[in-house]
Amino acid sequence: MKYYSLNKTAPVADFKEATIRGLAPDKGLYFPESIPKQDKIFFEEMNKYADEEIAFKIIQPYVGDAIPENELKRIVAETINFEIPLKKVSENIYSLELFHGPTLAFKDIGARFMSRCLGYFVKNNDKKITVLVATSGDTGGAVANGFFNVDGVDVVILYPSGKVSSVQEKQLVTLGNNVHALEISGTFDDCQQMVKQAFSDKALNEKLFLTSANSINVARWLPQQFYYLFAWKQWNDKSNPPVISVPSGNFGNICAGILAHISGLPVKHFIAACNANKVVPDFLQTEKYQPQKAVTTISNAMDVGNPSNFVRILELFNNEFADLKKVLSSDSTSDEETRKTIKEVFEKENYLLDPHGAVAYSALENYLKQHPEEKGYILETAHPVKFYDVVEPVIDQKIALPESVISIMSKQKNSTIMEPDFQKLKEYLLEKD
Ligand SMILES: *Cc1c(COP(=O)(O)O)cnc(C)c1O
Repeated sequence: MKYYSLNKTAPVADFKEATIRGLAPDKGLYFPESIPKQDKIFFEEMNKYADEEIAFKIIQPYVGDAIPENELKRIVAETINFEIPLKKVSENIYSLELFHGPTLAFKDIGARFMSRCLGYFVKNNDKKITVLVATSGDTGGAVANGFFNVDGVDVVILYPSGKVSSVQEKQLVTLGNNVHALEISGTFDDCQQMVKQAFSDKALNEKLFLTSANSINVARWLPQQFYYLFAWKQWNDKSNPPVISVPSGNFGNICAGILAHISGLPVKHFIAACNANKVVPDFLQTEKYQPQKAVTTISNAMDVGNPSNFVRILELFNNEFADLKKVLSSDSTSDEETRKTIKEVFEKENYLLDPHGAVAYSALENYLKQHPEEKGYILETAHPVKFYDVVEPVIDQKIALPESVISIMSKQKNSTIMEPDFQKLKEYLLEKD
């Protein structure tokens, strides 16, 4: 498989090069030259396949000969070695629980796949790779955990001070070794801007081998298709495919779902569920795409004012607005509505949502009111305990902390505080080694 840059002025790259570079040299996102179609029978008989086989079958054409079959099988198996159940919540709404991995959020899947691919690619390198990543909450922990102690890889994580939950922060700042946490006194957009500047800084790129682990990286984006297929495997009513509601921030997750759908996965409709950051809901209303400054909400991993993967979604539809509208709707849910949803679903259905899942739930409920003959599922992208500060007051109860959380909460915080100033980041990176 070859990947071209969406800015169309860089040479094509194979999976290895696209993974190592992250962004193309012309700053465009990489996009596959063709979208592999899977046989209809594969989806009809999905129950016959093990999860590892399903994941391998989907990802293999994208990897091509960049990784040998036995290595790729090992990487896939390690990526998904935890359960991903589809649970019934109400009469017509299910929850695909993506939070059973090591950092209790769906980003574990992309991060684990990517870190293992990079680990394979740099095996015989003499120059260390520096993975540079901005996080609005969950990316950092997943990436830090995925790359922790991977030989030949250094990880530098930028996160907005005071804008991530205490559990999220602990997951970033307590690993140490090859993982460095920078606490930026600014917003997520500031962090993302600093990272972008680093990638285009000549001096920095001469000295260091920089790569990104944000969801723009093809090795994080593409494996997110896996669990849409696992959900289909568990979907009871194959004659009535699901409406899928995805809590969306940078739109990598939902973009992977749409990709799987184009490869043949049966889906009735996609909903991009957003919080108050509603560039995409507005776009689908007005056809005008107007990036905004991110506003802070209780579903903080979705506080994104200019979603980086949205250009990929447009490309999937050849920029045809009418075609896009047929497959994708989008909704914006306020914090107040999110809290109300958490409370109602807990009391009525005895199911505890995290704020991101609650945004998706609210959007799906609204949609199903208009389409009562449909059923659907939400992607429950994080364990509610990651956001206990928000969730506990809403349900007026304590949530039991899983063992993995208890052990990190008592660990020493180890971060470097930095102003949102690219020069400061540059100095830090140059002096790091
Ligand atoms: C990152 C994240 C999202 C948003 O995912 P995107 O792929 O950026 O749209 C949603 N929920 C949680 C819990 C997240 O960590």
